[in-house]
Amino acid sequence: MIINEIFLSVQGEGIYIGSPSVFIRVAGCNLDCPWCDTAYAKAPESGKEMLVNSIVNEVKKYEVEHIVITGGEPTIYPEELNKLCDKLNNIGKKITLETNSTIFVDCNPHLLSLSPKLYQGWYEEIINKNLSKNCKKQIKIVVNSIEDAIDALKRTEKFDIEKENVFLMPNAATRDKHIRCAAWLVPFCCKNNIRFGGRLQTLLWNSERGK
Ligand code: SF4
Repeated sequence: MIINEIFLSVQGEGIYIGSPSVFIRVAGCNLDCPWCDTAYAKAPESGKEMLVNSIVNEVKKYEVEHIVITGGEPTIYPEELNKLCDKLNNIGKKITLETNSTIFVDCNPHLLSLSPKLYQGWYEEIINKNLSKNCKKQIKIVVNSIEDAIDALKRTEKFDIEKENVFLMPNAATRDKHIRCAAWLVPFCCKNNIRFGGRLQTLLWNSERGK
């Protein structure tokens, strides 16, 4: 598995926002979203090969319960991802697996966090397969305009997931843009009774790497 970085921070998004967490960021992604906020991890060359045992040993240095496996896109390493989840589950960690939901991997996270991309890669069959898994699930959709938000709302209504676990997130890699997007997205979310997915890492650190 090629790893871009492993670091301690607080979860910036979703139902566990604010929870101290160790982030395992893989290098490499099967999509190429123009607005990617972790572009430094998109290429496999941006990381170094690590054995699953070495990753687990690194994680053990931190005394936190939550582990976030993110990227890049973790599901491009299906075998290692499976092993990593098993080993982290065995030592009592709560895994959040962040995925763009374009590839299905039958592993066992505590929370499956789906972030399908409206126009870059939306695979309904894979999303539904992921939503049928026996673990907690959330969907976070990045939107760039009111039109995106309306589209996202329509698409998510078809899915079998509690509404409180669906978030619309501003397409914003900087604090200024986040604040500008929130100005129209928060009223949209209030009007349509859907959660606004603020991004703490952007608001606190302007999406600085390793935080
Ligand atoms: S799927 Fe995620 S990591 Fe991959 S390019 Fe898109 S935003 Fe970046």
